[in-house]
Amino acid sequence: MSALRIVDLTPELGARVSRNVPLSKHTSWHVGGPADLFFTPRDLADLAQFVRQLPAAVPLFWIGLGSNLLVRDGGIRGAVICTHGALGTLERLSATRIQAQAGVPCARIARQCVKWGLGPAEFFAGIPGTLGGALAMNAGAWGGETWRHVVEVDVLDRRGVRHTRPPADYDIGYRRAAGPADEWFIGARLEFDRAPGINSQAIRELLDKRRQTQPIGEWSCGSVFTNPPGDHAGRLIDSAGLKGFRIGGASVSEKHANFIINHGAARAADIEALILHVQRRVKETHGIELHAEVRIVGEPA
Ligand SMILES: Cc1cc2nc3c(=O)[nH]c(=O)nc-3n(C[C@H](O)[C@H](O)[C@H](O)COP(=O)(O)OP(=O)(O)OC[C@H]3O[C@@H](n4cnc5c(N)ncnc54)[C@H](O)[C@@H]3O)c2cc1C
Repeated sequence: MSALRIVDLTPELGARVSRNVPLSKHTSWHVGGPADLFFTPRDLADLAQFVRQLPAAVPLFWIGLGSNLLVRDGGIRGAVICTHGALGTLERLSATRIQAQAGVPCARIARQCVKWGLGPAEFFAGIPGTLGGALAMNAGAWGGETWRHVVEVDVLDRRGVRHTRPPADYDIGYRRAAGPADEWFIGARLEFDRAPGINSQAIRELLDKRRQTQPIGEWSCGSVFTNPPGDHAGRLIDSAGLKGFRIGGASVSEKHANFIINHGAARAADIEALILHVQRRVKETHGIELHAEVRIVGEPA
């Protein structure tokens, strides 16, 4: 833990870094142990200064809204940077191009694009994360996908230096965007079509559809597993008889089998055990290996 020398930061920055912050407060599953250090920057310059001052040996992890994260009960060693509540500018650059910082919630992008008469951005409305998380995950819904709209991304490296990169620098796939190591998204320019007839009814309809089929409002991380080619993880889990299957305080949703619900007192270990159980049973029943879409990070308790 000697690497975590907060004295390496200026007193002003050091005073704004929190220690031992329970990440259960920053994840949509409401589980997860503490981050050694937790920092929400004021703006980009503040963020770059923090990253520059952080000793190179301190591991760095970034989160947005924690809506795709299973943080283990032992938490995360090193520093966690939270972009949500920071990096929040969203602007229109031209008739069809917008620019957003990484902390902007996807739902805000959806709403603002409707106001600007741009589309198709409505799919962002149902993704309860930030643009940074959506870029990292290539988040998508209802046929829309984040990287289809990316013109350029802005990233920050481990030395606090900013770069601009084209999509060609990334290996993009279904819920996946692999790029250069030790760089994180600070913003992007996105391109949409003109959609003069679009209005907020389009968003309401998509959200209604979601409410009918998904356990919205319960503590979850959305879809736990990616869909295997030509099939749906939810269908495979359901037909393996796992709806309602429970470990500790977590269970497979009765409403949508690809969701795991924390009923209030689950530990990350319950959820991880349930993920492994589902994978084993689906493999035994269907011979298909399910891969986790959620990112599982941190130390066991
Ligand atoms: C109810 C519900 C419904 C959902 N529906 C959908 C859906 O329809 N489609 C879909 O794709 N997803 C869905 N999700 C999952 C989730 O919302 C998305 O994956 C979202 O993009 C995650 O964004 P986030 O800001 O919460 O990222 P986090 O969960 O905070 O982080 C996810 C990953 O991204 C990395 N990351 C975060 N910010 C940055 C950054 N600035 N730079 C680099 N890496 C970063 C993190 O390190 C982590 O590895 C759903 C989740 C819930 C709870």
